[in-house]
Amino acid sequence: MDTRHDADTPRTPGPSRLARGSLGADRGRLPELMETTRAYAVRILAGLDDRPAARAPVRPAPASLPEAGIGLEGAMEEFARRWEPGFAAGAGPRYLGFVTGGVTPAALAGDWLTGALDQNPTSGVDSLAPDLERETAAWLRDLFGLPPEHEGTFVSGATMSNFAGLAVAREWLGELRGVSPAEEGTAALGPVTVLSGSPHSSVVKSLSMLGLGRSAIRRVGLSPGREAVDVALLAEELDRLDGAPAIVVANSGTVNTVDFDDLRAIAALRERHPFWLHVDAAFGAFAALSPAHAHLVAGLGDADSVCVDLHKWLNVPYDSAIQFNRRRDLQARVFQNSAAYLGPVGDDPDFVHLTPENSRRLRALPAWFTLAAYGREGHAEIVRRCVALAAGLGERIAALPGYRLLAPVRLNVVCFTLASSPTPGRIEELAAAITASGEAFLTPTVYEGVPALRAAFSNWRTTEADVERVAKLLASVAPRA
Ligand SMILES: *Cc1c(COP(=O)(O)O)cnc(C)c1O
Repeated sequence: MDTRHDADTPRTPGPSRLARGSLGADRGRLPELMETTRAYAVRILAGLDDRPAARAPVRPAPASLPEAGIGLEGAMEEFARRWEPGFAAGAGPRYLGFVTGGVTPAALAGDWLTGALDQNPTSGVDSLAPDLERETAAWLRDLFGLPPEHEGTFVSGATMSNFAGLAVAREWLGELRGVSPAEEGTAALGPVTVLSGSPHSSVVKSLSMLGLGRSAIRRVGLSPGREAVDVALLAEELDRLDGAPAIVVANSGTVNTVDFDDLRAIAALRERHPFWLHVDAAFGAFAALSPAHAHLVAGLGDADSVCVDLHKWLNVPYDSAIQFNRRRDLQARVFQNSAAYLGPVGDDPDFVHLTPENSRRLRALPAWFTLAAYGREGHAEIVRRCVALAAGLGERIAALPGYRLLAPVRLNVVCFTLASSPTPGRIEELAAAITASGEAFLTPTVYEGVPALRAAFSNWRTTEADVERVAKLLASVAPRA
């Protein structure tokens, strides 16, 4: 009988390779193996500044499923040999692509302990874990200045947060029309209009997942030279609906130029028109932490549902976001998971009745740790510094021959392009040269039809010295005119 995978079967020591590959042997050496893992992680963290910001992937030779394992130490050696060299410094200070936050020391500790404790915060029958999630959600509500009616649940990212918020919006439309899409299906709802100025692609994806359809979205005109919605045009669109209830998705921080819809003005339209106001504030919500920028999200608390990503500017590891909304009853109607062993939904539903997943990790713990460790002030400092660094890079780029800014730096993203003939091909070459340097990682975009690059600042590690290095790099890779 092969007992190599049988943890608790006593056996005489065999050849060393078998001993190494046994779960029982790993269990016996657990403290030592965790020390080895810790040391490995520390080496990775210590090298983050020097690790290439991004890598052009070179795939290792394929390996097939091991029949006999090689134990944790062996697995670590294999990972270090075959895979780790191809991993980017995504948590490093000059990974400025997308909007990718880093990981604070406390968030990392919280994430490790999440795995060590392996709680399922689905329901409170066996542990306090769901209460920790509730406390963390309340802290985040406070951090973003939302009123107590907004209750939060953790999901895996802003896409799922948009999805969950829009699912509640869909149920609200049903309530007004006297049907329950959750019970009767989306068809019972009839056509739905979703109005938005510059919606994130994940909003469109959510509409597909919700059965409302990607084509439910109607793009409203923007203010001249802006990515913010023209509120007068939005009012006209609502007028045209002739009293039919709708969903408005407002954007607090567009990904290209970090523009903000006027939330107060949009919310005021609800006096004349029935609509659910969902705000995608994936990273823009953090403007609330900077006194000089808080006005950009004034009125966020007036929203019916709010999406905030946490693996971006809160600097917790992937994957983490929060979904806030004012209608927990409707949320439970959508996500309830009734089963004899789970108990009734009730007035204060367990998380199993509130999120797309049933079982899920205690995603709140890394967020709890970083908020407990650094508080509002520590996280406000990260935001203020990132904003200052983005402004600094913006000034340097504006002064560099060969480049021009495509939009003012409103918060934490610099959107820029080549001063002359920024064709898709030339921007692609530029992005590739930046990636190949290992010095920084920037992602391409198209803004107002112009191919461009974005540098997004949201990592607690990034400093003025990094901005200096990125500016030098840009000067060196600028194509000769
Ligand atoms: C990043 C982002 C999303 C999607 O977030 P994921 O975490 O990738 O799911 C949605 N909206 C905005 C504005 C974003 O910046």
